[in-house]
Amino acid sequence: MNHVGIGYDVHPLVEGRKLILGGVEIAYSKGLAGHSDADVLMHAICDALLGALGESDIGHFFPNTDPRWQGAASKTFLQEAARQVKFREGTIVNIDATVIAEQPRLAPHVSAMKENIAAALGINLKRVGVKATTNEHLGFVGREEGIAAMAVASVELPE
Ligand code: MG
Repeated sequence: MNHVGIGYDVHPLVEGRKLILGGVEIAYSKGLAGHSDADVLMHAICDALLGALGESDIGHFFPNTDPRWQGAASKTFLQEAARQVKFREGTIVNIDATVIAEQPRLAPHVSAMKENIAAALGINLKRVGVKATTNEHLGFVGREEGIAAMAVASVELPE
C-alpha cells in the first residue's frame, strides 16, 4: 500500500554559520542556526519519510538536547529514516521537496543536493525532486531571517 508523508522545517539565517542545504555547503555571508548542521531541506525530507511511516518527528529521534547531534551532518538523519523504511519492509517510491529562500540563488546547487539526498537514502536519483523558490520578499523568509523547506514522501509498505 502506498503511504505519503509531509514534512516542514525552518531555521534562522544568522552570521557566523555555514549554509548547508541538501548536504551542499553553499558560499554565502550567512548560514542556518541549529543544533545539528541545520540542513532544513534534509530535515523536512526526514519528517516526510517518518510521517509516511506514521512515526514521530525528527526531534523525537534526534533531540536537540542530545550532544551526539551537535553539529551533526543531517545525512545521518536521512540514513536513519531510510533504515526505518527498510525495517518495515518498505520502499521509498519518491521524495519531492521545495526550499524557500530569498537568498542566495540555489538553482546552481540543486543537482548536487539531489545526489546527496539520493545517496543518503540509498535510492535512485530519479526518485528525488528538489526545487527552490523565493518568498517574493514577503515575511520572515523574504526579510532573509530564515530559510524554510517543505517535502513530501511516498513510501510503499506491506500494509
Ligand atoms: Mg530542523
